Amino acid sequence: MSFLEIITYPNPILRKIAEPVTDVTDEIKKLSENMVERMNLAHGAGLAANQVGVSLRLIVLDLQLKKDNKPLIVINPLIVDKDSEEVSEEEGCLSVPKYYDYIKRSKKVLVKGITIDGKAFEMECEGHLARAFQHEIDHLNGIVFIDYLSPVKKHIFKKHYLKNEK
Ligand code: ZN
Repeated sequence: MSFLEIITYPNPILRKIAEPVTDVTDEIKKLSENMVERMNLAHGAGLAANQVGVSLRLIVLDLQLKKDNKPLIVINPLIVDKDSEEVSEEEGCLSVPKYYDYIKRSKKVLVKGITIDGKAFEMECEGHLARAFQHEIDHLNGIVFIDYLSPVKKHIFKKHYLKNEK
């Protein structure tokens, strides 16, 4: 098994907009399996391919978020509709170790994409799953959750986090 390294903030790879996946190759399937394994090992709720240094639009979400216990793998995921109602909950990120903060997200989202079998994917979800989708799809667009912090909080975050990184 190839052990994937998780890229951490402020690595510029996290800021690059990921490219769409044009074909579900064996390589993509293998990558998604390794990502699920890596996410579970790190006890994360989700992982985007660019967090492991692959700038492609592919995300995996925690098994526990879904009832049937199957990994949720979505290629080229896109939020096509979202609830105007927002909820604030504590969030963390494997690329920003040991930092958690409250982030406002849409309560409900409708996500479309492609499954790992190359079929159309569509899911309406809310709660933790809706939050995880928004967080991971943000990654594909070069957005990290700390970007949503207020200027004061961002300042405090940078001071502490970057100091601890050294
Ligand atoms: Zn993240």
